[in-house]
Amino acid sequence: MAVQKVFWADPYQTEIIAQVTSVSDNVVTLDKTIFYAFAGGQESDKGTIHGFKVIKAEKDNNEIFYTLESGHDLKPGDEVIVEIDWNRRYRLMRLHFAAEIILELIYQRFNKPEKVGAHIAEDKARLDFIWEGSISRTFPFLEQKAQELINADLPINSDFSDEENGQRYWEIRDFARVSCGGTHLRTTGEIGPIKLKRNNIGKGKERVEILLEQ
Ligand SMILES: [Zn+2]
Repeated sequence: MAVQKVFWADPYQTEIIAQVTSVSDNVVTLDKTIFYAFAGGQESDKGTIHGFKVIKAEKDNNEIFYTLESGHDLKPGDEVIVEIDWNRRYRLMRLHFAAEIILELIYQRFNKPEKVGAHIAEDKARLDFIWEGSISRTFPFLEQKAQELINADLPINSDFSDEENGQRYWEIRDFARVSCGGTHLRTTGEIGPIKLKRNNIGKGKERVEILLEQ
């Protein structure tokens, strides 16, 4: 089975009516969803299915498995309302795209260092690199360039590169085209002001933390 991922067609949709396609104890699947499951470093959404709290969302190939709190009474074929915590999702989307921009600027300007980690949470995003010395020396350049791209409020085009296999990309004209299956903003301006922080995470490894100032 494959769930229809409406969070790609419309990442701004906050609720949807779906049909339950399977139930196994507290784990359900749906025919379509707006509820993102952890992938590409972006954390899962929080929210409810038919009023029952989702405590875990896991992606497995083209299916997403939702673990509900105990005590639900859902059956296959039921029509349900799926709702997500939009404040959280929107912060995840803004931090995700801020991280996309920072990563691209680092790749383009600093000879594509090896990325060894990435994570997008609600309070901050982080990117980890193999890097000698302090990566904070790049911050004046990164903060200025990133803020220029954000302030220019550039359109972000997101689409399939391979629809059958669920491969997606985002593109900003004259800047970059990048493969990613996350949920992307419509324009860069939505990110708002950002701030970078450095963290040394061990010998030869550096972490860039990205924070939203609003
Ligand atoms: Zn992305």
